[in-house]
Amino acid sequence: MYNRFTGKTCIVTGGARGIGAAIATRLALEGCNTAIIDIDEEAGRIRENELISKGFKAVFIKADVSIEHDVMKAVEYVFNKYNSIDVLVNNAGIGFTGRSIEEQTLEEWNRIISVNLTGPYLMSKHAVKYMKKKGGVIINIASTRALQSEPNTEPYSASKGGLVALTHSLAVSLAPYRIRVLTVSPGWIDTSMWQVPPRIPSLTRLDHLQHPAGRVGRPEDVASLVAYLASDEAEWMTGVNIIIDGGMITKMIYIDENIIEDSIALLTGDREFSTMVKKLIMEAKNNMESAKSKLRSIMNL
Ligand code: NAD
Repeated sequence: MYNRFTGKTCIVTGGARGIGAAIATRLALEGCNTAIIDIDEEAGRIRENELISKGFKAVFIKADVSIEHDVMKAVEYVFNKYNSIDVLVNNAGIGFTGRSIEEQTLEEWNRIISVNLTGPYLMSKHAVKYMKKKGGVIINIASTRALQSEPNTEPYSASKGGLVALTHSLAVSLAPYRIRVLTVSPGWIDTSMWQVPPRIPSLTRLDHLQHPAGRVGRPEDVASLVAYLASDEAEWMTGVNIIIDGGMITKMIYIDENIIEDSIALLTGDREFSTMVKKLIMEAKNNMESAKSKLRSIMNL
């Protein structure tokens, strides 16, 4: 393990649970004074105690990143406690609705945008005042959904796309103060083990094997990337969006009978059965083609 942050201070929003908790733990492990900002007080206190009991310097502050007064007070508190702010990880985020645009409400849209996009904006705005003194790094946790979508995810995808744009805008504005700004866009990360209390992951073989890298992501994968980007080793990187998704974004996906055959084999463990299903699909396709050609000849087309 490296020790790249001794004497430095980081803030991780949404650090009580999930990916944020793994990031906070990794940075603390590498010597950082770690401030966790979260609305979940119970989980935040548990995380704070866990880090302190391991001998790390850590503090939990209850604050909602979408409320400017909360943000201002929290950032001020961290600076007064540790006398610097070197790394800000804007990780706090909330999920998408899963309902059609006609069913989504303006309140849902506003809440998701205010936590996922306004939150990082406010945190950056108030942390910059302190970071300007010595320089620093801001890392925004977006998502591959900034670049690609499933249906009915408009507020979430828009918030993350906005975050990618906020990143390059801030990177240019803050460059004169030696503040680097980067986006990390994770794909599917299973956070079960970093919940409070931890949960048993319930992933299938298909979940793992559909990833070119052979598995679903873990919070530790994102944490080690963030630690690298926040360190001086990445001093020539700013403004860009780094994707960490086990290769999913590079994979071209057309559903055909071979994919269906492989998926059924993975799910059931029964290759014979999956091959039989594939044959039935191909037979149905052939029957459809011959029916179409008969129809065309009857209609003289
Ligand atoms: P999570 O729900 O496990 O953790 C999110 C944390 O943010 C929680 O501790 C929660 O209390 C906190 N939080 C929520 N709203 C807040 C607010 N207003 N102010 C302060 N804290 C708040 O989520 P996660 O899966 O660990 O996701 C973390 C980040 O990573 C999010 O920005 C998410 O969009 C992004 N992300 C997650 C995945 C994934 O597959 N898990 C994939 C891509 C991107």
